[in-house]
Amino acid sequence: MRKLLVFCTLLLSFSVSAAERIKVVTSFSILADITRNIGGDYIELSNIVGPDGDAHVYEVTPKDARKVQDANLIIENGLHFEPWLDRLVASTETAATVIKASNGVIPRSLEEDGETIPDPHAWNNLANATIYAANITKALMEADRAHAAQYQHNHDVYLKKIKALLVHVDKTFHNLPAGNRRIVTSHDAFGYMGQAYGIQFIAPQGLSTEREPSAAEVAALIRQIRQDKIKAVFVENIKDARLLKQIAEESGAHIGGTLYSDALAAEGPASTYLGLYKSNVDTLDKALRR
Ligand code: ZN
Repeated sequence: MRKLLVFCTLLLSFSVSAAERIKVVTSFSILADITRNIGGDYIELSNIVGPDGDAHVYEVTPKDARKVQDANLIIENGLHFEPWLDRLVASTETAATVIKASNGVIPRSLEEDGETIPDPHAWNNLANATIYAANITKALMEADRAHAAQYQHNHDVYLKKIKALLVHVDKTFHNLPAGNRRIVTSHDAFGYMGQAYGIQFIAPQGLSTEREPSAAEVAALIRQIRQDKIKAVFVENIKDARLLKQIAEESGAHIGGTLYSDALAAEGPASTYLGLYKSNVDTLDKALRR
């Protein structure tokens, strides 16, 4: 029995030797975590924008170009979240398959400076994570048919975890007091969550973090917080907290905590996507119940 076990272990480690692993590149940390859960040891994963990183304003490096060049599969969010990656794919002429994990999500869009812009932050509705997981699984199975069964198995295990967390999220938000559903964050990253649960998120910065808000826009937001008696403002892990602290001070709202908007935390509970989601929901819940 023991011999058989050793043999099986050897066989397993042999079956995922480096040479056999497909090379997968993800654009940012949240996609990397979902992909790691499904790909497991069968893939060699390189991620581009890491924990606490801001993908909106990311500048590519020669190292990124090499990753993209060598990849078998590139997984991006889509919805215009990573235009820099599309440029990199074009300029390196990589032979990799490129997929958009958000494919099939019902997209939101917003009017910004007179233009209609798609909202890329679809991962902030946990229900959409089932779509992300399905797209990633399908792409891995097509890129590496030899391990299709393993990807399917990992997907099914992960899907159960998403669904278990969805029950917690639904219950938590369902019980929020009706008058306490307005929140201020740094940039408009939580529209999909707000739409799913009837919470209104307001931000001094728009869908992207590229443009800084003007003094007049900040003043208007402070007036709105006072007028609407918004209780809490939240800082984001990818953003400098100073502006939000100033807004809290001048408006009389309290700082409700840190929300993880576009990136995982480097360590702790929010260092996985599902951990991040639970952390955000529990932080919002705690602050809004005060
Ligand atoms: Zn964002």
